[in-house]
Amino acid sequence: MPQPVCPYCGSDVWLVSSSSLKSDRAGLTYICSRFPDCDARVNCHPGSIKPMGSLGDPQLRRWREKAHKKFDQLWQSGSMSRRQAYCWLAQAMNLPESETHFAQFNQQQCQQAIDLTTVYQRKSYNIAVKHIHTG
Ligand SMILES: [Zn+2]
Repeated sequence: MPQPVCPYCGSDVWLVSSSSLKSDRAGLTYICSRFPDCDARVNCHPGSIKPMGSLGDPQLRRWREKAHKKFDQLWQSGSMSRRQAYCWLAQAMNLPESETHFAQFNQQQCQQAIDLTTVYQRKSYNIAVKHIHTG
């Protein structure tokens, strides 16, 4: 795997243990070697050195977290499985499922995922209400 470089400043990227970054997460994190001046990072898949996506700065990471939380409501509500939810999102965003991961999204895609999820939730709410009214 090619060693990633920081997409923000082009510096080398270090692989460090997540716990060294005051995270309570076990595992490894890629972080820009200019940290803390540049705080771009991405976590690895559990038990591997494979990054979960692309390095994100604090702002992008907040967007990803926000979009992820919103999206998780879809399958946590039990109206569909997690797998179905990702399949739906991939189709709605016109992305291959292999690229439908929040850790790979840019800010625009995060916003798009939030909007799509909101519309979907509103629609299924309307359908549920209709069911109640029509008995
Ligand atoms: Zn950097």
